[in-house]
Amino acid sequence: MRYISTRGGIPPAGFSDAVKMGLARDGGLLLPFRYPDVRDRLAAWRSLAYPELALEIMLLFTDLPRAVLQDLLRRSYGVFDDASVTPVVPAGPLFLLELFHGPTLAFKDIALQFIGNLFEYLQPPNAPALNVLAATSGDTGSAAIHGFRGRRGMRVFVLHPHGKVSPVQERQMTTVLDENVFNLAVEGTFDDCQSIVKRLFEDLPFRDRYNLKAVNSINWARLLAQVVYYFYGVFRVMEATGAGRVRVSVPTGNFGDVFAGYVAARMGAPIDRLIVATNENDILVRFFETGIYERRRVCSTLSPSMDIQVASNFERYLYHRVGGCAQTVKRLMQAFAADGRIVPETVAPGPGDPLFRARRVQRAETLDTIRNLYERHGRLVDPHTAVGAAAALRENGDGVPVLCLATAHPAKFGEAIRAAIGRDAAHHPRIDALQGLPTRMEVLPACAKAVGDCIGRHVRCEKEGAEAARAGRNKAARPPRPA
Ligand SMILES: *Cc1c(COP(=O)(O)O)cnc(C)c1O
Repeated sequence: MRYISTRGGIPPAGFSDAVKMGLARDGGLLLPFRYPDVRDRLAAWRSLAYPELALEIMLLFTDLPRAVLQDLLRRSYGVFDDASVTPVVPAGPLFLLELFHGPTLAFKDIALQFIGNLFEYLQPPNAPALNVLAATSGDTGSAAIHGFRGRRGMRVFVLHPHGKVSPVQERQMTTVLDENVFNLAVEGTFDDCQSIVKRLFEDLPFRDRYNLKAVNSINWARLLAQVVYYFYGVFRVMEATGAGRVRVSVPTGNFGDVFAGYVAARMGAPIDRLIVATNENDILVRFFETGIYERRRVCSTLSPSMDIQVASNFERYLYHRVGGCAQTVKRLMQAFAADGRIVPETVAPGPGDPLFRARRVQRAETLDTIRNLYERHGRLVDPHTAVGAAAALRENGDGVPVLCLATAHPAKFGEAIRAAIGRDAAHHPRIDALQGLPTRMEVLPACAKAVGDCIGRHVRCEKEGAEAARAGRNKAARPPRPA
């Protein structure tokens, strides 16, 4: 499979190069040049276990040997605490696809466990160390840290908005004390963190000097790993209900997870509709309702991992929406950077996309949904999942079963659970164990230069340390001179 940039400025790249590139060198995002049609394989795929299904899907998009990919997948999903990796469970009128059985209890593990193993495989022995750089609204950071901690020849730098992630999310990151893990708390919003990361990647000399790698959902490998569970979840709901098509509700911020659903649908997964569910930060809902994509101020909500007003993966969808014209994408994204507003419908007029329905879910409805699912159906869901479930309940009733992506374990968001049901019902032993552990992080101003300098300092400091250690060893190894 060959990959192209949404802005048309790079020669087609293979999978490994696309993954290593992360953000395309022309500032665009990478996309496969076409989506394979898998409709004639669906029947055979329905009986596959998760890692086997992942293997078949990923082979269509990668240039890795089958045995290598199989081994990477076995190791990546062997650490999940449920044998089916992403189990589907009923919740009253809905189905939940539980994506939180990985090490950090959020769906980001599904991609980042795989990416950690993939990068290790792609890294030639004795190559200069690579530096993974990620911005997080909470969950990507800990998943990236757990995907890369302790790996040789790799450092991971994670930017989170200082004081704006949940206390549990913060502890999941800052209690990891491995030497190759650096938590940078930025005095700003998640959008600031994301734009700093983007700026550093766009600084090509900096990017090359430090061998920077992206693991945000701008990296195609993340979306590819997520495509798998759409097929897996839809198959389970079809088995349970006998339905021929399934509707999927996706709580979203960066349009990453739901773009993976779009890819699955383009490949022929029996998805009837994708429900784009947002919290009060509703740029995506406004776009699907009005055709205008316009940035507003970010506000803090019960679902912090979706407190985003600039959805980094929207550009991938925009590319398809304007008929695959890279020049138009480039022009529109430049206009968005300048004015915070674009109207893609002016270049590709026509009816909206029937695959999508977008719904905004506010605080009160989120809390009600948590309470109702718990009291009536015995399912405790986290506030992100609740946003998707609330949207799904509005789109339910015409006989098509609805699958809601359950993106995090409720124990990650204990305060929201307390607010909803009045007591502290959400626990997980791995979360409880974080209390009182030592932590490490650095606070930095929201400015790309400060972050760039900080990365440079750590890399230099480690090099000097290694050289000093080598020099010390050499000295010690020299036989004592006779007196
Ligand atoms: C990241 C995240 C989301 C949003 O995913 P996007 O890919 O940004 O749309 C939703 N829920 C949880 C728990 C998350 O961590």
